[in-house]
Amino acid sequence: MVATGSAVRVRLAPSPTGTLHIGTARTAVFNWLFAHRHGGQFLLRIEDTDRTRSKPEYTANILEGLAWLGLHWDGEPVIQSERIEAHRAAIQQLLDSGRAYRCYANEAELTEMRERQAAENRAPRYDNRHRDLSPEQEQAYIAEGREATVRFRIDDDAEITWTDLVRGEMRWAGSDLGGDMVIARRAPADQIGDPLYNLVVVVDDAAMAISHVIRGEDHIANTAKQLLLYGALGATAPVFAHTPLILNQEGKKLSKRDGVTSVSDFQRMGYTAEALANYMTLLGWSPPEGMGERFTLAEAAAAFDFERVNRAGARFDWDKLNWLNSQVLHGRSPAAHREALVPLWRAEGWLPADPSADAAAGSAADPAWQEQLAALLGPSLVLLADGVEQARPFFERPELSEAAVKQLASDGARPALQALLERLPEGALSSEQAQALLGDAVSAAGVKKGVLMKSLRAALLGSLQGPDLLSTWLLLQPSGEAAARIQRSL
Ligand code: GLU
Repeated sequence: MVATGSAVRVRLAPSPTGTLHIGTARTAVFNWLFAHRHGGQFLLRIEDTDRTRSKPEYTANILEGLAWLGLHWDGEPVIQSERIEAHRAAIQQLLDSGRAYRCYANEAELTEMRERQAAENRAPRYDNRHRDLSPEQEQAYIAEGREATVRFRIDDDAEITWTDLVRGEMRWAGSDLGGDMVIARRAPADQIGDPLYNLVVVVDDAAMAISHVIRGEDHIANTAKQLLLYGALGATAPVFAHTPLILNQEGKKLSKRDGVTSVSDFQRMGYTAEALANYMTLLGWSPPEGMGERFTLAEAAAAFDFERVNRAGARFDWDKLNWLNSQVLHGRSPAAHREALVPLWRAEGWLPADPSADAAAGSAADPAWQEQLAALLGPSLVLLADGVEQARPFFERPELSEAAVKQLASDGARPALQALLERLPEGALSSEQAQALLGDAVSAAGVKKGVLMKSLRAALLGSLQGPDLLSTWLLLQPSGEAAARIQRSL
């Protein structure tokens, strides 16, 4: 499919009219995998020709999101708006060769045309009315002061075919493309207005020597039009691969209405880049037998091919993403957990803003203490953000839940906690010392160990659920917080 020796050059061409969308990121993943599979180049082109909707902060968000996911691109991004002269030159070339012409139809006339088509139950299309104007007719329109768009001729009997790497043999009829296509916006008739999407993409892909265009299947009709443009411009067309859409749980195209659609949303929710990149690879690609579902981008690249990309839309599966995320998190070391969680804890105001502030051993600012807490919470995290709620009772004294109050009022609870409190020294404890204290308190109070354990959990965490009790106690011990909470519960 890829001739040996031919250089693979693919590109991602995001429009900076919004934050990095999950669909664009998934397209980026497939481009990156294909480039890396073939030792090729993954290029980036920022399609900022829509001047009113494009914003620099969106470009920044897109670049940051791609870098965060590990989808590094080769070279500097191409900025499409800087290439407008090349776009205009291509339009001029098409005008000169007669493949394009000026259309003077105004908005009112086009609206009237569309309304008539709708009334006659016909599909809307431009009726090519200005395709063959005589020089006199043209002069008359210009004398009227009319502006013109530039349209590219699409013959109804044109047959457009290509072999799509995902979808196989594709065939389009020129008559299905909506009539002659506008390639430059309306402008005074002696000028060329703003060049439009299909034209600029072809000019830029050709200039960047793109070998394979990998993009979402919502661009299939554009591909048919673009192939005609490649022909008219005398440029070699790339190979195309149209990837399936991402669908929501209901099987509809994933959209803004589904809430989270931006990579930065996923990041904020506590998904890791590894899990999200892994998950996006699975959105439409089936790894070969034996590979399992967990892998790095580099591992996926080694096995990637379009034969295993599905044609059907890929349904977004939160359970699988959550599972992958928990797998990534559970594989991390306590030090890695600490590194990821400390910024979140700091954002809650739980840690001093200055990370180098002198920290007393066993205080919240002490890195060793932080790592101990991270090690305690790490194994139960599904989302990184869970490490905030689960850490809260270690930084803020929790209210007692109803169940905790009930436990503390139950038989033996008070004497057991009283006995423990009386024996509790100040400062840090080892787990052996803590175990011994529990034993002593249980015999002194004459209660079952379970009673003390359950009551101690209620006292320390205000709840009957939570992480390992002994570790919880050891973390709350050095600051005196364990004693204070037991005291409060009495
Ligand atoms: N700017 C287009 C988009 O974001 C690029 C499509 C393409 O890859 O050609 O949809």
